[in-house]
Amino acid sequence: MPEPNPPTFWHATTELTAYPQFEGDACADVAVIGGGFTGLSAALRLAERGASVVLLEAHSIAFGASGRNAGFVVPNFSKADPTYVASKLGEEKGQKLLRLVAQGGDRVFEIARQYGIEDAQRSGWLQPAHSLEMAEVVRKRVEAWQLFGRPVEWLDAEEARKRTGIRLYQGALFDRSGGTINPVAYAHGLARGAAALGARIYEQSSVTAVEAEANGWRVVTPAGSVRAGHVLLCTNAFGEGPAERLGRTTIPLQVYQIATEPLDAAVIARFSPRREPMSDTRANIFSYRLTRDNRLISGGMAILPLGAERRMARTIADRLACELRLPSVPRADYIWRGTAAVTTDFLPHLYKFGQNFIGATGCNGRGIAMTTMFGDVLADAVLGSIPLDQLAVPLMPAETVPFRKIARAAPSFFLIRGLMSDRRAITRAAHKPSSTAA
Ligand SMILES: Cc1cc2nc3c(=O)[nH]c(=O)nc-3n(C[C@H](O)[C@H](O)[C@H](O)COP(=O)(O)OP(=O)(O)OC[C@H]3O[C@@H](n4cnc5c(N)ncnc54)[C@H](O)[C@@H]3O)c2cc1C
Repeated sequence: MPEPNPPTFWHATTELTAYPQFEGDACADVAVIGGGFTGLSAALRLAERGASVVLLEAHSIAFGASGRNAGFVVPNFSKADPTYVASKLGEEKGQKLLRLVAQGGDRVFEIARQYGIEDAQRSGWLQPAHSLEMAEVVRKRVEAWQLFGRPVEWLDAEEARKRTGIRLYQGALFDRSGGTINPVAYAHGLARGAAALGARIYEQSSVTAVEAEANGWRVVTPAGSVRAGHVLLCTNAFGEGPAERLGRTTIPLQVYQIATEPLDAAVIARFSPRREPMSDTRANIFSYRLTRDNRLISGGMAILPLGAERRMARTIADRLACELRLPSVPRADYIWRGTAAVTTDFLPHLYKFGQNFIGATGCNGRGIAMTTMFGDVLADAVLGSIPLDQLAVPLMPAETVPFRKIARAAPSFFLIRGLMSDRRAITRAAHKPSSTAA
């Protein structure tokens, strides 16, 4: 029996719109399965381009990773650099994906403005390097993205420390096109926008089967079915019913998040004078962002996930206090967890499950900008303007990750290894004569 997942800070503090449960029979050009950013962005783009859409969500809008994330808008990959992408996909396909990713920040904030979605701040995003080796990697990353004309710059160690409040950093990437958003407000804004354009959105409507018919597909729920020419599977890491086809192509990664009590503005000004969100390069990533009411949102992974909520709340709050030299350990007012979908090559993928039946996933923990761009790609795929294998996101065979049951334990193993390598890298940086570590 899964452990109950407490409400997120976002769900508890955001006005939510309720949508009806699907009943009876309906027809649509496109049936979208899943009411997270991917499904909602696709529904919005398709509705904007005149397609009739039915979106079916098993629970409620933003029930999955889209409502459980930290709200960093990062038009970038978590583990892939531009050079890696080109080497993995080839020059032409690599360039297409990179150009798509590069537009992600612009698109998120443009949609937020266009559809009146509140709580979106384009403050930029920092990626500080915790070691001299990673400073080199990040500096090259900056140069590679600059070749795409992106607003990305390298900050030296002193500037990185001033802007994050953390002394060990050896420099940082600063991406002016990033920022933060309230993810639940964003998902609901996408849903409202799509519904206003005629998309029919349903909650508590779990899809139990997708069946081929003579002229398309029959998408079955417990209380009725939708006949559609196209089906988009946007169920990310979930594995129930037809979602299993997509879920098995990725490794699920459980991540814990907290929102602290509101902090004193003077304390914040000491460590984050510009209120910029940051996620560093450690294997056990240290990240934080601020909310409008001055809470810190931060996260982490547990080595032993069983019953980890309370333990992780304490661990993450202790880490914030220690890294940011806060006057006391902040109270964690909210703790929740979510599941990110990780692909073996750390890149996003499209999959074809049948004629006009496709899915998209694999944002590897950097999904707000990427899933928003999935919306455009999936709309292009459905409306036939671009053949599937020429879209900007690579089309892959929908294969189960090899040894997936064992691979599910891999994140814990990599976390232990990462904790040790982080420590070694920081020690090396502190002892190197050329280091400017304080
Ligand atoms: C803890 C955490 C922190 C993260 N932080 C960030 C961040 O700060 N910035 C960032 O860019 N990315 C972040 N990510 C990644 C990002 O949240 C995801 O990449 C993104 O939300 C994926 O969106 P999605 O729509 O593909 O999937 P989801 O949001 O998971 O949506 C899938 C939906 O499908 C529904 N569903 C499943 N099965 C069925 C079915 N059979 N019938 C109908 N519906 C079904 C589910 O209920 C769910 O609502 C984070 C992820 C996690 C888990």
